[in-house]
Amino acid sequence: MNGEGVMTVYGGIEAGGTKFICAVGNNPQDIHAIERIPTTTPAETIARTIEYFRRIAATEPLTAVGIASFGPVDPNPRSPTFGYSTSTPRPGWANVNLAGEIAAALGLPVAFDTDVNGAALAESRWGAARGLDTFIYLTVGTGFGGGGLVNGKPMHGLLHPEMGHIRIPHNRETDPFPGMCPFHGDCLEGLAAGPAIEQRWGQRGETLPADHPAWELEAHYLSLGLMNHILMLSPQRIILGGGVMAQSQLFPLVRQKVVAQLNGYVSAPEILQRIDEYIVPPALGNLAGVLGAIALAQMTFN
Ligand code: ZN
Repeated sequence: MNGEGVMTVYGGIEAGGTKFICAVGNNPQDIHAIERIPTTTPAETIARTIEYFRRIAATEPLTAVGIASFGPVDPNPRSPTFGYSTSTPRPGWANVNLAGEIAAALGLPVAFDTDVNGAALAESRWGAARGLDTFIYLTVGTGFGGGGLVNGKPMHGLLHPEMGHIRIPHNRETDPFPGMCPFHGDCLEGLAAGPAIEQRWGQRGETLPADHPAWELEAHYLSLGLMNHILMLSPQRIILGGGVMAQSQLFPLVRQKVVAQLNGYVSAPEILQRIDEYIVPPALGNLAGVLGAIALAQMTFN
């Protein structure tokens, strides 16, 4: 309820590279409607998203809409390009005014952040990061993104973190794959995102058996990335989501390698004794992003 005793309900959009997940509701137990719209051209995808919310809003007026988008984006409300996608290599999607077009068409306030900051916010409210104020959420799928909360607030700064594009050691003798990041070649995303697994081994990750050497190498790269994130940001927990992390055999491998890489230097019981609770999958599964978008709208326009 808002101050006037009117029920409030929010719209959320997880803008992803393969689909836009649109939902209306207030929390994981209170989702009134959900729709998945394939990501095609910006014009078509945005038009279908607007049409969906117009249809809903005709019977259930929305308070505000949140968008949690694939990056890179401009999340700074004071910037002239706030709510735009920026340098994404996805064809047609660079410099698209995602938040502005949706806000104007629906006549509603729109909150906007990265998909990973949104997912992190949802996990802190309802999922795997309840009670924590500083943690990170990484997604390893068609790309490699990272966000999180610092002191209870979504991580921002100059723009937003790009935790998948850090450099990690790459031994070209044991792994001659050059990496596939269009900007950096063998950055973490270039070596460890889903398309890198597919290109390196000649088949999609989900078709490789659980004991394939691909997973040992994947866990090696993930552990190097996580070690950097642990040392730079001191997160109280790390949530690992995305399509690649659906390979649950990665979790024990990654945990063991992170402990080995840190080599006793970070002497926290969370790492030395309770690593199984420190590196965890998302509790909200594949709804983390769209629930995050709803949480963003609630946080901004409550
Ligand atoms: Zn990169």
